[in-house]
Amino acid sequence: MKIAVLSGKGGAGKTFAAVNLACVALEACYVDCDVEEPNGHLFLKPLNVWTQRVSVMVPVFDVEKCTGCRVCVDFCRYNALALARGKVLHFKEACHSCGGCVLLCPAAAADYSTHEIGMIREGKSGGVRVLTGVLDAGEATGVPIIRELAGRMPKEEICVIDCPPGSACPVMESIKEADYCLLVAEPTAFGVHDLAMALELVRLFEKPAGALLNKCLPGENPARKLCMNTGLDILAEIPFDLETGRMISGGEAAVLKSPFLKAVFLGLLAKIKEEMQK
Ligand code: SF4
Ligand code: SF4
Repeated sequence: MKIAVLSGKGGAGKTFAAVNLACVALEACYVDCDVEEPNGHLFLKPLNVWTQRVSVMVPVFDVEKCTGCRVCVDFCRYNALALARGKVLHFKEACHSCGGCVLLCPAAAADYSTHEIGMIREGKSGGVRVLTGVLDAGEATGVPIIRELAGRMPKEEICVIDCPPGSACPVMESIKEADYCLLVAEPTAFGVHDLAMALELVRLFEKPAGALLNKCLPGENPARKLCMNTGLDILAEIPFDLETGRMISGGEAAVLKSPFLKAVFLGLLAKIKEEMQK
C-alpha cells in the first residue's frame, strides 16, 4: 500500500507526518520525493547508506552542421535554446529532456547525451527502508528523480511517500502511484488556501484521500471548515504543542518519544487501512 503525504504548503507538517507514519508501520519504506529539500533522513538517520547518481538525456549540438534555421528554438517550450550568430545555444539547466529538438532538427545537428541532475540515497532505519531523492542545485526539474524513486518502491510493504510542497508536476509525479493520499493541514489562511489546491489535484487524479489536521488550537479551525465543506474525511487531529516542536527541532521521530503521538499515528494508519478496504 502506497500512502502519499502532501500538504500544498511547506511547513504544515508533511515530513513530520510521513516520517512518523513510517515509524509506526514498523516494516515500511519511507520515500522522500521532496527532492529539492529532502529532510526526512534527518529524523530517520538511516544507516548503511549507498548513493546512485541520476542522469537524464539532453541534446548536444554540432555547430558545424547547424544552419540556424530556428526550428528547435521555436519548438522548445522551456526556453532552453537560443540562436547566437546564426548558431544554436543550449541552456542545460532549463532543458526538460523532451527530445523534441533532436527529432525535429532538419540538419541532423542534434544528438542525445547524458547529464547528471541528482542522486538517490538508500539506507535502513530500524525496520524502515529510507529512499531519498536529491536534486542538484540549479537543475530545472526533479521529476526524473521522482520517477526513479517510484521504480524502487517495494510492492508489498507499506510505502509512505513524502511529496514535495505545492501542486505542480513534481507533486503529480509523486502521487501517481499512490493508493491513498493523506493531506496534512495547518490552521492558517495560507495553509488552507494551499490545501484546497492540493485537494483539487488529488481529486483530479481520483485518489481516495483523508486529512490530518496538525498544530490545532482551541476554537475555530479554517482547515476543519474546509474539510467539512469539501467532504474530506478528517482522520486525526494533532494539537499545537511546544514539546512536539522541540522534538522536531531536535530531529527526533516524535512517535519514538511520545506515547500520545504514537497512539495518534497508530490510529491514523489503522484508519487509512480501513479506508482502503472499503
Ligand atoms: S533545428 Fe538544427 S539546424 Fe535548425 S537551429 Fe536547431 S540545431 Fe540548428
Ligand atoms: S530536449 Fe526539449 S526541452 Fe531540451 S532543449 Fe530540446 S526541445 Fe528544449
